[in-house]
Amino acid sequence: MAGIVHVIGAGLAGLSAALRLTAGGKRVVIHEATAFAGGRCRSYRDAALGMTIDNGNHLLLSGNRAALAFLREIGAQQQLIGPKAAEFPFVDLSSGERWTLHFNDGRLPLWVFDSRRRVPGSGALDYVPLARLLWARPEKSVGEVISCDGLLYRRLVEPLLLAALNIDPPHGSAKLAGAVIRETLAAGGRACRPLVARDGLGPTLIEPALACLQQRGATLSLEHQLRAIRFAEERVEALDFGGEAIVLAADDAVVLAVPPYAAASLIRDLETPTEFRAIVNAHFRIDPPPAQPPIVGVLNGTTQWIFAFPGRVSVTISAGDRYIDMARDVLAKTIWSEVASVTGLPSALPTGLPPWQIVRERRATFAATPAQDAKRPAAQTRWDNLALAGDWTDTGLPATIEGAIRSGNRAADLIARRPPAARPNMSHG
Ligand SMILES: Cc1cc2nc3c(=O)[nH]c(=O)nc-3n(C[C@H](O)[C@H](O)[C@H](O)COP(=O)(O)OP(=O)(O)OC[C@H]3O[C@@H](n4cnc5c(N)ncnc54)[C@H](O)[C@@H]3O)c2cc1C
Repeated sequence: MAGIVHVIGAGLAGLSAALRLTAGGKRVVIHEATAFAGGRCRSYRDAALGMTIDNGNHLLLSGNRAALAFLREIGAQQQLIGPKAAEFPFVDLSSGERWTLHFNDGRLPLWVFDSRRRVPGSGALDYVPLARLLWARPEKSVGEVISCDGLLYRRLVEPLLLAALNIDPPHGSAKLAGAVIRETLAAGGRACRPLVARDGLGPTLIEPALACLQQRGATLSLEHQLRAIRFAEERVEALDFGGEAIVLAADDAVVLAVPPYAAASLIRDLETPTEFRAIVNAHFRIDPPPAQPPIVGVLNGTTQWIFAFPGRVSVTISAGDRYIDMARDVLAKTIWSEVASVTGLPSALPTGLPPWQIVRERRATFAATPAQDAKRPAAQTRWDNLALAGDWTDTGLPATIEGAIRSGNRAADLIARRPPAARPNMSHG
């Protein structure tokens, strides 16, 4: 009988590995430590707001090909919404200026030559140095490759890279920044349309994936934390779930799709990223004004992006480590006053602020520095039946949904394509 693939971790990396494996006819069991699937990309019922919200606003782009293929496979592509064209409205809180970036669809960046489409105050030549990031060496930081100063930096490069890398851009890896630019600005507006899960991450990305996996016969085991891995010379021979061990048969395999700190505790001597950056989200239960765009970039404030959802306005702050210990009500008040000034909603309601919630994810992503990027391991391990997945493995992308899904696909391909000759004889089983 064909072997079983044990997928450890039900985040997007684990779910995408499971989908690809089951599509290829493999039998899959997913083991998840917590009581829910989705990992860092999930919806939950929030008591303070009295509504279901996402742990954080997640933005996808139309060029996220693996993520869009994942959504098509689980039948949920219609649940992503966004403008028909690649448009990004911005507000500068210090000057009060408002503008919209309009990328043109094709790869030729015509928008750069059109003063009504590009960043106001910039000239076409200002964009040329960005190309240096495309060929940056892996040990270089963004600040070593381009000037992190000036109008174009503040109005375009900083917000783009801060959101994509989740790190103060000058310290970010130039190689990862280059990958972001290659897959967005350099790929043309067709790849840059912003997309959000209107009904939430759970109903869009997680629940349909679980339904699809169940239909294909996969099993999900919640509150089933892997505690240890027993290794033989060339393969994993058993999985220890604390009081219960699963001994692997000759054809069984494992995709380890847990965060880096969990993987490092399970595999001795595994090098992984060890530094992280936070993301802070503020959610307000209030109807956005009817004309409010789904996403607005905000400059010179605490707020970086404002998302409008039915009945809720949400704010994202990337690289938000400095807000982790700030009093929650102070943070909520500061952010709400900025939201009010951008959206035109009243800054003071009769009840004070609208019902609010602050969600702070301390270890939202690994710190995308050149040094941390160099610690990312490949999916393939020295054990024949073990592959690694996760947004922190060496995907060539920053820690994103797209990276997590590509990593799961890659791990699944490695397991599925194991040459029969590399499989152990039954004496190991
Ligand atoms: C607030 C926030 C905002 C974000 N915004 C964006 C965005 O706008 N766009 C974007 O593309 N990306 C965004 N991201 C990043 C994106 O969420 C992640 O890249 C992606 O979800 C990572 O998926 P993963 O499967 O690699 O890891 P995880 O989601 O961390 O999944 C790992 C899973 O393994 C489980 N696990 C851990 N240890 C064990 C064990 N021993 N046994 C069994 N299970 C275990 C965990 O419980 C978890 O479910 C954001 C992240 C956060 C936190």
